[in-house]
Amino acid sequence: MSEARSNFIRTIIADDVSSGKHARVVTRFPPEPNGYLHIGHAKSICLNFGMAAEFTGVCHLRFDDTNPTKEDVEYVDSIQTDVRWLGFDWEARLFYASDYFERLYECAETLIRAGKAYVDSLTADEIRAHRGTLKAPGTDSPHRGRSVDENLDLFRRMRAGEFADGAHVLRAKIDMASPNLSMRDPTLYRVRRVPHHRTGDTWPIYPLYDFTHCLSDSFEGITHSLCTLEFENHRPLYDWVLDALETHCHPQQIEFARLNLSYTVLSKRKLLQLVEEGLVDGWDDPRMPTISGFRRRGYTPESIRDFCEEIGVAKRDSVVDMAMLEHSVRNDLNKRAPRFMAVLHPLRVVIENYPEDQTEEMEAVNNPEDPAMGSRRVPFSRVLYIERDDFREDPPRKFFRLAPGREVRLRYAYYVRCTDVVKDPATGEVVELRCTYDPATQGGGSPDGRKVKATLHWVSAAHAVDADVRLYDRLFVHETPDAVKDTDFRTLINPESLVTLRGCKLEPALGQAQPGARMQFERQGYFCVDTVDSVAGGPVFNRVVPLRDTWARIEKKQPTGASGKG
Ligand code: ATP
Ligand code: MG
Repeated sequence: MSEARSNFIRTIIADDVSSGKHARVVTRFPPEPNGYLHIGHAKSICLNFGMAAEFTGVCHLRFDDTNPTKEDVEYVDSIQTDVRWLGFDWEARLFYASDYFERLYECAETLIRAGKAYVDSLTADEIRAHRGTLKAPGTDSPHRGRSVDENLDLFRRMRAGEFADGAHVLRAKIDMASPNLSMRDPTLYRVRRVPHHRTGDTWPIYPLYDFTHCLSDSFEGITHSLCTLEFENHRPLYDWVLDALETHCHPQQIEFARLNLSYTVLSKRKLLQLVEEGLVDGWDDPRMPTISGFRRRGYTPESIRDFCEEIGVAKRDSVVDMAMLEHSVRNDLNKRAPRFMAVLHPLRVVIENYPEDQTEEMEAVNNPEDPAMGSRRVPFSRVLYIERDDFREDPPRKFFRLAPGREVRLRYAYYVRCTDVVKDPATGEVVELRCTYDPATQGGGSPDGRKVKATLHWVSAAHAVDADVRLYDRLFVHETPDAVKDTDFRTLINPESLVTLRGCKLEPALGQAQPGARMQFERQGYFCVDTVDSVAGGPVFNRVVPLRDTWARIEKKQPTGASGKG
């Protein structure tokens, strides 16, 4: 764990530990298996597992699987993969709310017998109409006065599968005039005659979140139940259920602000929409804010954990700038990723005074940040590729790279001077540069102290590996795509969020790069070998992040009018 920053949750737990309120801290991460995990979940995972680890407690992984219509084993599996990849281990403490269905049912009968729950037979619309508003109290259902016996009979018949979906619900009997809407006789059970991915056809009724969650926490001996702010209003209900049942263990629910991240959406419903409508290439599309998307993109678990620590935990909602997450991954890869030369938009260069049949092996440093990473040899020969952008026939004033008559340094190699430009006679496009090199500048330095203003990367044409390189960028052009008035977030997708470059020229060592390997392409950014589309001997590269935050500059030029920066 990195150095402990103070946050209000850490303070609460530390106090509970020092006062002896709890012998052992027990937290849980409780995802609903109805989608893949996203970066917001990572915040919750890091917090729950992190707090447990810090106070030598334990953290459970619990599937909150009470809504079979939306849930799937594909999600159950992906969630486990993602939590493990982030670096956390629940050991034997894997739980499913569905394993508690029998106990939950018994709790419901206990509430009925205590006169604290009743079967209501109003329709969903009628129940809504009876609920009242923030300003007006609700009105009692005509079924609120049913006897314990009648309620027990109806509830048992609900369980036996005698009723159609929506015919009856079980509600807590609390207070229809409560200023807190979630206390106005909330629904605890509903009839849903659909099979469950774990319990099959056993149950035609399913418990709702507010009933299931507090009791699952209690059954598992959770000490601190950390959840996001939207549950703040539900806390009295969380406590009511546990008090009404006089549970032995009564965890403390503590709310924190959910993570919102700029230039993306973090709602499972919207992410599912992107996947189902084919607007992205699956849940693990490298542009998705899912853990699996970031993994495929080339993010490291360390960078995501570092980001989660950096953003901290607060009580107030805000939008965190995507640039912060990008900073975390750059910071991590800067130290760890070996560097290579790769030409993404190749322009052919012929060094006229370099012998035709000669190849030299130039020594190149693997990572100047870490001498232990050593060096490698890169072949240099008469015909090379440089980046098309590194040449201008009519250079503007501040362009210091290659131009006719001008001399630049080729990284780890020689000074070269451009002597001629070859163009396609039909289009006028520059297709080749003719250059000369100075043999006295071997290694990239000049014995006579002659200075050049630019150092370019290059790849020897005869030795180059050809590959596809995918330049991924932010998925949306707007900072808060799902909060723009009268605009569907799907219309704000960045059309340049994926640009595939074919026929890029890479230094030969990259031909052997293994799926999942991460590296820096000098002067370009961090890249990762795609784990899905790479084939043996044919790596496909994904851009993790460019070297610098190019969006900051764009925004200054064209203010979007967006607000809500965190
Ligand atoms: P969504 O609203 O996108 O469907 P959810 O909150 O319903 O997400 P769950 O599977 O219920 O998804 O979430 C599991 C846990 O992760 C919960 O404790 C939830 O509070 C937390 N969580 C979900 N989204 C975020 C977020 N953006 N930031 C922090 N924690 C989050
Ligand atoms: Mg939820």
